[in-house]
Parts: sequence; C-alpha cells; structure tokens
Amino acid sequence: MAVAEHVKTPAIASATGRSDWPYIPDLLTQPVPRYTSYPPATAFHPAIAAPEYQQALNDIAPATEVSIYIHIPFCQQICWYCGCNTGAAGRKERLDAYISALESELSAVAAILGGRVRVRHIAFGGGSPNAIEPVQFVRLADRITTLFDATDPAISVEIDPRSFTMEWALALAACKVSRVSLGVQTLSPHVQSAIGRVQPAELIESCVAALRLRGIGDINFDLMYGLPHQQLADLEDTIDQAAAMLPSRIALFGYAHLPQMIPRQRRIDGNLLPDLNDRFLQAQLGYNKLINMGYVPVGFDHFALPEDSLAIAAEKGNVRRNFQGFTEDACQILLGFGASAISQFPDLIVQNEKNVGRYRELINGGQLPIAQGVSLSDADKKTAQKIEHLLCNLNTDLNGLQLSSEQNARLAEFCRLGLIKQNEASLHITESGRHYSRYIAQALT
Ligand code: SF4
Repeated sequence: MAVAEHVKTPAIASATGRSDWPYIPDLLTQPVPRYTSYPPATAFHPAIAAPEYQQALNDIAPATEVSIYIHIPFCQQICWYCGCNTGAAGRKERLDAYISALESELSAVAAILGGRVRVRHIAFGGGSPNAIEPVQFVRLADRITTLFDATDPAISVEIDPRSFTMEWALALAACKVSRVSLGVQTLSPHVQSAIGRVQPAELIESCVAALRLRGIGDINFDLMYGLPHQQLADLEDTIDQAAAMLPSRIALFGYAHLPQMIPRQRRIDGNLLPDLNDRFLQAQLGYNKLINMGYVPVGFDHFALPEDSLAIAAEKGNVRRNFQGFTEDACQILLGFGASAISQFPDLIVQNEKNVGRYRELINGGQLPIAQGVSLSDADKKTAQKIEHLLCNLNTDLNGLQLSSEQNARLAEFCRLGLIKQNEASLHITESGRHYSRYIAQALT
C-alpha cells in the first residue's frame, strides 16, 4: 500500500484547531470491519453452532460475572438508513410470540447454567425495545431477574424517541434502568426527511425531561454524519442542540450506504450523500466540536462527559469494546438472547438465527437457536486482545504477535503518515491517526 502521495490537507481547517487529521482518501475508500469483535462477523460460519455454545455454557465457572444482551428486532417505524436486524412491529400477536420465544430461550440457558453466573449488566437493544408494550418489557426484565442471579445489575435500554411515552418512562424507572440511549441521529429537518426519520428537537427534549423526571439521568445520544443533504452547518447545529440537552454520552457514527446489501437504504438517493472529503470534514468537525464542549473522546466514535463512568474508565485504561461499541463493562462473557443476538466467550463467539420466524421455530423445537459462530485459536485471542486495547486506549504492546513483512510494511507506512508511533515492543495511535484507528487495527490481522 502506498498512500503517502495521496495525503491531502483538509479543504478547511478544523473548527477548533484541536485536531487536524490528514485526509487520506486511499484509506477512507477501503472497507474495514468495525472490530466490535475479532474475528469479525464475516468470519462466522455455520459449523460452529449450538453444541459449541452449550459446551461453553457448561464450562462457565461458578460465580462468574456475565453480561446479558436482549435483542428486540422490531420498530414502530422503520428508518431508511437503518442497517440493524429489525422489522416493522406489526400485529400484537407477533410481538407476543417473539417475547414468548425470548422467555423460553432465557429459561433454557438458565437451566444449563443452574445458577452459576452473576449478571452484572443487562442491555436491551434492537431494533427498538420500546416497540413492545411497557408491560411486556417489565415482564421480560422480571423474567431475567427471577431466572438468573441478577442482584442490582446495571440496566441500559435503547429507545426510539418517536414511540416513547410516559408509560415507558414509568416502566423504565420501575425496572431500575440506569441508562437510556436515544436514537437522535440528526436534528436538521431536511436531513430527517431524507432519511425517513422525522422527530423534532422538542420530541427529544420532552423524552429527556421525562426520563430525568423519573430519575434516569444517564442518557446517551446517537448522532450521525454522512447523511443525505447533510452539510457541515447541519451537523454543527445538531451538535449544538444536542449538547444543550446535556447527554452524558454521545456516539457519532458515519452513515454506511450499502443499498445492495440493505434494501431499505434504496430509498436514499446516493447522489445526495456528502462526498468523501465532506464526509471526512464532518467527522473531524464533530470530533473537534465535542472535544471543545468538554466531552472526553473514547475510542474513535464515542464521547462522554468527564464525570460519566465511560470517561472515568477511559482515564483508568479500563474501556472495553464489545458488540455494543465502547463500554466500561468488564465482564468477559456476554450472553445474547433473541434473533441475531451474539454471545461472546474468551474462546468462542456465536450468533443466534437472524430470521425471527426461524428463531422462533428453533426455540419452539427445544433447540438453542445458534446459526453460526467462530472458535478463537490462541493466535486469534492474542490478536483480539491487541486490537481491543489499541481501539480502546490508542496503544498496544506487540508482545506475542508474529507480524509478517507485509504487516510491518503497512505499519511503517502508517508511521510515515504520522498516524502511529511504533517501536519494537509497542505502537500507539497519534491524535492524527485516531480517525484511522480501525485501518491501523486491520494491519495487525
Ligand atoms: S428506530 Fe433505530 S433500529 Fe429502528 S429502524 Fe430506525 S434506526 Fe433502525
């Protein structure tokens, strides 16, 4: 790879002068995994399935602390840009049948574990967990705490503001939910129209107020750049409005337009998307603006107020990366429930059947609903550990990695570009390289 000759100075200076990342189009056009796991999901295969999962569950030592993830693959309204495994909520019977299957899966795994684990974190994601009824959510949360040893777990829930109600605020408070993540994405009306997600800023404000009224103060906003019709001024205005609501965390993601793989994205006209340079400038503007507002950067796309637990974990070097992104969750085992949910062990990753109908059939047939997965070799575990540390802390030691001459050449190129500093024992990502963290991680694989 020879990209140095294509490095360009951004078309504008950074908004704040805090960070001027080099613009390297030859890198930015290359596909790269998100590295929410290593090996990434593209390495999963059907030969690793229910027997391996059952064995991994059997092997968990007594009193091991674990996290639970519950996937609700439904939304009341489907957004055109969405790449999640979700569908229209539709009839109540369909939701009831899904929740019944979820409860069966929870019971089956709890029976295998026989009370051996302690649940420290429970995350509800999707889709939109609030596509179901609040009473169904309360029942699910109750089911988890009666099936597992879950004394005072940290509970987080993703919420679609468009289908949020006062009943939901009460249900979340009753279940002792400590953190809510709101899908905000953009507050520019013309961009909202272009992505099929219209939600005025007042709706977000009332949602935040209702949560705070019920004592839920840890609130995350998901924002996006690279959206159709979105310009730098739109992103700047969205960040100003969002930050005025004082979310304790903000995640700023780039929109990935993949209409061949994600049919619902065909409603978005690719010609209306910012070009590569504008998209890069948006990422940089968002980063600089949030830093100047006092948010602490965590990894390459998360930001937290200094008093937030994620920022504190970052300060201590305790941030982890899992399927939900950057987290302070220290558990080594994640148990996923629901269609497409992923379970993670130190030497195994498995994923449930993605199709809701087939997921229910497997559960109703008395099977663990695993569709695919991957076993980690010792070398995989070593690489996974280095990549996680690199993405979370912007540095890693290289002990135990056998880098090929091609890998070393890639790292040398990144050194020349000023994206990393490296010696024989370690490498660290410079501030100029933060935006390119995943490309640098890829060089270790
Ligand atoms: S609400 Fe979230 S999960 Fe549902 S369609 Fe929109 S982006 Fe996707």
